[in-house]
Amino acid sequence: MSEVRSPAGAAPEAVFRDGLAAGELRFQRCRACSAAVFQPRVLCPGCGSDDLAWQRSSGRGAVYSTTAVRGREGVHNVALIDLDEGFRMMSRVEGVDADRVLIGTRVGLAVVEQDGEPVAVFREEIS
Ligand SMILES: [Zn+2]
Repeated sequence: MSEVRSPAGAAPEAVFRDGLAAGELRFQRCRACSAAVFQPRVLCPGCGSDDLAWQRSSGRGAVYSTTAVRGREGVHNVALIDLDEGFRMMSRVEGVDADRVLIGTRVGLAVVEQDGEPVAVFREEIS
């Protein structure tokens, strides 16, 4: 597991954003209880420790839940993804119809640009 070095005192959100800009999905791992921590934060929600180390996710995981959301610009997918490192994040699955995403599908990270910002989305893994 590769650790990410970050400047002391850097805001967790900033370290996460810098990761995305570099094409990486970063998360934190608590050194006290080894829980994977996401969203980025200052204290471990499990044990309250502030000893959190940044790591790079493999970007591989599985769909935990999925919803097709209908809006003005058509239908898009909102999904919770369980990453292999043990954390869950809200994102979306692209490359397949929004209402055809299946729970349990193996997915991999893709960083795309949206409104000039890097955003983490997922695509079905070809197995
Ligand atoms: Zn902890």
